[in-house]
Amino acid sequence: MANNGKRAYHGRRGPAPIVWLIALVVLIAAVVLVIVGVSKKEKPDPDPDPVTDVQTPDDGQTTDDPNTTGDPGNTDDPDTTDDPNGGQTVSEPYIDASGLLQYPTAGHYVQADSYQGGGEAPWNLLLVNDWNPLPAGYDSDVSFSTVSGGKQVDSRIIDAVNRMLQDASAYDLAVVSAYRPKEEQDVLYWRKVKQYTDKGYSDLEAQKVGGTIVKRPGFSEHNCGLAMDVGGSGDYTLEQTFANTPAYAWLMEHCADYGFILRFPEGKEDITGVIYEPWHYRYVGEEAARYIMDNDLCLEEYLAQVKK
Ligand SMILES: [Zn+2]
Repeated sequence: MANNGKRAYHGRRGPAPIVWLIALVVLIAAVVLVIVGVSKKEKPDPDPDPVTDVQTPDDGQTTDDPNTTGDPGNTDDPDTTDDPNGGQTVSEPYIDASGLLQYPTAGHYVQADSYQGGGEAPWNLLLVNDWNPLPAGYDSDVSFSTVSGGKQVDSRIIDAVNRMLQDASAYDLAVVSAYRPKEEQDVLYWRKVKQYTDKGYSDLEAQKVGGTIVKRPGFSEHNCGLAMDVGGSGDYTLEQTFANTPAYAWLMEHCADYGFILRFPEGKEDITGVIYEPWHYRYVGEEAARYIMDNDLCLEEYLAQVKK
């Protein structure tokens, strides 16, 4: 009995570890397969990059190295045609009848219900960028006032500018550049474009690259008189080094109190079409400025949100 009992005992214990081992291996394999399967399923959406399929001018912004401009930057948009004027939807920059580079507005906010279309958006929210040119004859209706240092701004903002300069006098805040008539922009633009056509660039490529450095006439915010480039704390270079100065820190905290915003924030390049410019400020009025600065927006995002 004892032997039988032992045999029976051994007989029951003998195969048991193998069964358990197989079961364990199968279980581990199943778990591994599930984990692999799940991780594969999570991978298809790894890129939240909001870059639009529209070629923006800042694509060439970081460089004026001609070697990097051979690639026209075509996207994988299947609708892109070789002849941008031939199709109904234009998705690539093209030269218009007047010879000026134009950027298609698809994917960008257009202020069509206000200045561009003759509506009634407040003057302080006028949008001027690569997709929203200054309305024809705009500055003939505007009067200008001279700031300390000789630059000109829209007379409606001179008080705000003067108050801001005075309150930031501890940082020697000063206006380096402000209103620039469209005609002056025209000269600067074509001079820059010529530098590239002289190097052998096509007209289109020369305007695309040159236009990232000097904006096309009528497409620069400086043409409207509501924007200015400033310096302070000993840095008047209009370079990104300005972001390290106490003057800049003061502006980040206080510019909205005077109705100004940092117009080209870091990280918004695809929306504004302009690189981060810590020196460029735009008057939009105190209410909009406070909202924009508090919520880390750019003007385009604000206008799209409030539908101005
Ligand atoms: Zn500027």
